[in-house]
Amino acid sequence: MNTLSARVLSANESATLAISAKAKAMKAQGINVVALSAGEPDFGTPQVVKDAAIQAIHDNFTYYTDSNGIPELRTAIAEKLHRENDITDAKPETVLVSTGGKQSLFNILMAMCNAGDEILLAAPYWVSYPAMVQICGATPVIVNTTLENRYKMTPDELQKALTPKTKCVILNSPSNPTGVMYTPDEIKALGHVLAKHDCFIISDELYEKISFGTPHFSIGAMPELAGRVITVNGMSKAYSMTGWRVGYLTGPAALVKQAAKVQGQSTSNVNSIAQKAALAAILHTASDVEMMRKEFHRRRDMVCEIISHIPGVRTLTPDGAFYLFVDINDALKASKHPDITTSVQFCEFALDKHHLAGVPGEAFGADGCVRFSYAAADETLKEGLKRFAAAIAEMTT
Ligand code: PLP
Repeated sequence: MNTLSARVLSANESATLAISAKAKAMKAQGINVVALSAGEPDFGTPQVVKDAAIQAIHDNFTYYTDSNGIPELRTAIAEKLHRENDITDAKPETVLVSTGGKQSLFNILMAMCNAGDEILLAAPYWVSYPAMVQICGATPVIVNTTLENRYKMTPDELQKALTPKTKCVILNSPSNPTGVMYTPDEIKALGHVLAKHDCFIISDELYEKISFGTPHFSIGAMPELAGRVITVNGMSKAYSMTGWRVGYLTGPAALVKQAAKVQGQSTSNVNSIAQKAALAAILHTASDVEMMRKEFHRRRDMVCEIISHIPGVRTLTPDGAFYLFVDINDALKASKHPDITTSVQFCEFALDKHHLAGVPGEAFGADGCVRFSYAAADETLKEGLKRFAAAIAEMTT
């Protein structure tokens, strides 16, 4: 009688939120913690966006809206998807605006998953994918990638992992946690494999606008996959709007209709004011977005340079996003502390003893790694990596 949902019990809590909460609690006690754990830009939201929100309040734009999102925002999103992503079947009617990319992903998985369905993910993956899949009653199937292959799934690996039960494949480029991007040719090669397999494809493009040279390519632009791709994006990362909670998706009409039903029967529309803000962000912030992108690029070069001098750790130069994913397996093997042999234990030690917050790779399906965010000021980054080097040195000597 009193048993809880097995679907929900099977899912993990968000490790990134948990570490960030612990770091915040330590800071509140007056401890000088360097937190490189949170996944959010450290810039202010662009002024034009804030102004649009304030104007919306003055205009009393404070009531329920169309549950799928205000028409002018859905139109602006559909136009953006045509202009920037070549997703020619995006229409205002097939755009669903949700409370962050997170809710977009959740709505779509709720709309598509049945018990027994397999949802394929490449590890390292974003923390929430497996938990969402489990809560929606399906089974996450993980394809492991390697640092040597820049953490990318090859067409061969994809082909081997597909089964008649594969309902959907989730792609994420640029990736959280690795910052790696698939090139347009690599995406097309995966697309050719998927063209022969009857399944959906979710393309999580939240970090689309934060890339440092590799061109972004949306798999939703491939004609041979028409009617099967769901493209998810949002305002959080590109426009420094994490707290505003606006994301969106577009995809095949029948599926979007069911996702919209999930939203309509749970949260309804995104905050009306935030929708006006999102509209201003899409229409009027090109120079702000470019300023942030350049700054992330500069910081990426700085943190990669610093980390290259720390012995016992390996990392890739990320192509985009604002994360550094560091493989500390060699250092863990050389650990002189019997109670520090995993990256979870290392991250606890780094936080408790060196007051540095990073996220253990276990959360992303990649043991022996740590994710640091470089969405922070130069001094914070330098101090954080100094503490990281000190923690590695203390563990191995
Ligand atoms: N997808 C990826 C890969 C992410 O890293 C995040 C946030 O960290 C999201 C989706 C969801 O972001 P939001 O719900 O803030 O739009």
